[in-house]
Amino acid sequence: MGLCNWPGCNDRHNRGMGEQIIALTDLRNTSDIPAIPTHRPAPSGLLADALGRPLRDLRISVTDRCNFRCSYCMPKEVFDKNYRFLPHSSLLSFEEITRVARLFVQHGVTKIRLTGGEPLLRKNIEVLIAMLAGLRTHDGQPLDITLTTNGSVLARKAAELRAAGLKRITISLDALDDAVFQRMNDVGFPVADVLAGIDAALAAGLGPVKVNMVVQRGTNDHEVVAMAGHFRDHYGEAVNLRFIEYMDVGATNGWRMDDVLSSAEVRRRIAEVWPLEPVDPNAPGETAERWRYQDGRGEIGFISSVTQAFCHECNRARLSTEGKLFTCLFASRGHDLRPLLRGGTSDADLAAAIAGVWSVRKDRYSELRSAGMPATEPGERRVEMHYIGG
Ligand code: SF4
Repeated sequence: MGLCNWPGCNDRHNRGMGEQIIALTDLRNTSDIPAIPTHRPAPSGLLADALGRPLRDLRISVTDRCNFRCSYCMPKEVFDKNYRFLPHSSLLSFEEITRVARLFVQHGVTKIRLTGGEPLLRKNIEVLIAMLAGLRTHDGQPLDITLTTNGSVLARKAAELRAAGLKRITISLDALDDAVFQRMNDVGFPVADVLAGIDAALAAGLGPVKVNMVVQRGTNDHEVVAMAGHFRDHYGEAVNLRFIEYMDVGATNGWRMDDVLSSAEVRRRIAEVWPLEPVDPNAPGETAERWRYQDGRGEIGFISSVTQAFCHECNRARLSTEGKLFTCLFASRGHDLRPLLRGGTSDADLAAAIAGVWSVRKDRYSELRSAGMPATEPGERRVEMHYIGG
């Protein structure tokens, strides 16, 4: 049992899967928002941060709502029926998102990932995808547009997402065993419906599909080999399964290092059954380390932000549901672009403001944590993942 720090709540909550303390500060409405820096370089497609990292990948959260209550992201004890999600008027409109995205693209972004919450819960999301698909990179190429989903409504939406211009898709699935999966999503959602979503995505031409499994020791780590076996045997190269180390994102999931199963250990367990060999990265800044089965049954990936930090190549910016720009998944504060968007700021000034934020960026949370150095200021709380996407 843990004492809840949610404002006004003094309950002790029994989480049923180990002791967790729920602690949350609602950062969405904080007035402690940094000012936009005054140094404002013009768009050149070559923008780099203070550590020389380019801006290539923009992750846009389109809703803070989700129909799952996974304990590592939106635990039921906090995100219950009394939780106040953002009102629709606070969300960036599709026009506002597309305008900001176009300016990011002018600075060098080539890939856009839509996230949430659960992005497929945003009404008419395919309209936004079609608007983003009309953008071109600094050298005139179409963008790489992708989306991360829990797969719950994908079976009926995959074809229209593809038709709108979505290129690829990533689906979260933490277990094959129904009892384990339903306990983890905490709303009793069945595995079969997510698998149907994966099949629909492949049928719609959204392959190769990526499937993400967050591995928590003692919760679903016994499912690692079964997951690898299922996807290599049934899908081969059509599905790329990635194992993600359980991260200390946000402040509500009661993260403990003891709950982390390292990628090295996951890889060892799989290689014992099906030998593996490493594969070169596709592009700099790729989050997943690639490995393939020696018998040619496809590829798997490992995202090891706890045991092998990759901040030195991190080229990702995140735009929150209501228009705050975060330069790290573990940030405590975001730069608020919405007042600029809604206050008559010109494209040139907005682009300059984005450049100003990125050019002074020094974030490297995971590297500092790995080195045992303080990664956040005393008293700072990290923003929640459902609000800026994973
Ligand atoms: S900790 Fe922050 S800077 Fe490091 S890889 Fe993750 S998002 Fe990028």
